[in-house]
Amino acid sequence: MKITIAGAGIGGLAAAIALTRDGHEVTVAERAPQITEVGAGIQISPNGMAVIRSLGVEPALTEVSVKAEAAQLFDGLNGRSVISMDLKNDAPDLHWALVHRADLIDILLKAAQTGGATIETGREIAPPGDGAALPGDDLLIGADGLRSAMRAVLLAQDKPFFTGQVAWRGVIEDAKSDPVMEVHMAPGRHLVSYPLTRGRRNIVAIEERSEWAEEGWSQTDDPENVRRAFAGFTPRVRGWLDQLDEVNLWGLFRHPVASRWFAAQQVMLGDAAHPTLPFLAQGANLALEDAATLARV
Ligand SMILES: Cc1cc2nc3c(=O)[nH]c(=O)nc-3n(C[C@H](O)[C@H](O)[C@H](O)COP(=O)(O)OP(=O)(O)OC[C@H]3O[C@@H](n4cnc5c(N)ncnc54)[C@H](O)[C@@H]3O)c2cc1C
Repeated sequence: MKITIAGAGIGGLAAAIALTRDGHEVTVAERAPQITEVGAGIQISPNGMAVIRSLGVEPALTEVSVKAEAAQLFDGLNGRSVISMDLKNDAPDLHWALVHRADLIDILLKAAQTGGATIETGREIAPPGDGAALPGDDLLIGADGLRSAMRAVLLAQDKPFFTGQVAWRGVIEDAKSDPVMEVHMAPGRHLVSYPLTRGRRNIVAIEERSEWAEEGWSQTDDPENVRRAFAGFTPRVRGWLDQLDEVNLWGLFRHPVASRWFAAQQVMLGDAAHPTLPFLAQGANLALEDAATLARV
């Protein structure tokens, strides 16, 4: 089949690898002038790693990621351990990777190109309103994320609503971290942190708020605001936040899962079909699963 994929995010590139491998002629059209990713980490859990393995890129990902050995939840105010999961000893066969998004995208992009996919940047896809593929194609895949153009065409405009939570994200230097995912919790706030390769540490801090903050990943904020919000937390957490030179702040919005994911020659995957909030760290993992599943049907 001749297939165009709208969007060179994690889902679109993974689909391109899987579909070219099955002999399809694939073009990935990315609206942005360059394929880049925001400066943040991402957790690829064992379900996503199963897809990464099937795409043949697990060795490349292993090189640029930290394999999590434990997940620990703490009372953020007094440091008391609440839950501890020993992945190293209790689930040694499961690979839970902590990776910088840019490194993951780079690996997927190279594999898609090596597999024969054509990547066209600076090309925005407007899906035909009648459910058809682009002229001359057999299938159009909408891997175009949270504000998917295909979703807007397939469905009546949905109405996302503010969840009453905002999130800051940032990356700091931290050369001597254990390979552990940590969650530090207190009423109305929690902070997730884990190490990345090359001596970096990813931080996402969530606060409940009635004030609206804009949706999207690129708004910057004064790091003093996140330090103030987590001022009562343990010295470990405050020490990380003290190192933040720049942070991004955005509002968390709930988008309904699309009621229909396909039309005659169009299909959506990833955030376009089922946007998630970041709490379970599953949005990208689901996009990977979608890509692998789509290649099978
Ligand atoms: C703070 C935070 C932390 C997260 N952490 C995790 C985590 O640890 N693990 C996890 O699994 N998930 C995580 N997620 C969710 C994850 O980031 C998303 O679910 C995932 O990136 C979705 O991938 P996608 O390919 O569907 O869409 P996207 O990554 O959004 O890619 C869509 C692409 O389509 C392009 N595009 C848009 N419109 C068009 C168009 N009309 N034509 C052409 N191109 C277009 C965009 O430029 C973009 O490149 C997190 C999310 C947040 C906010």
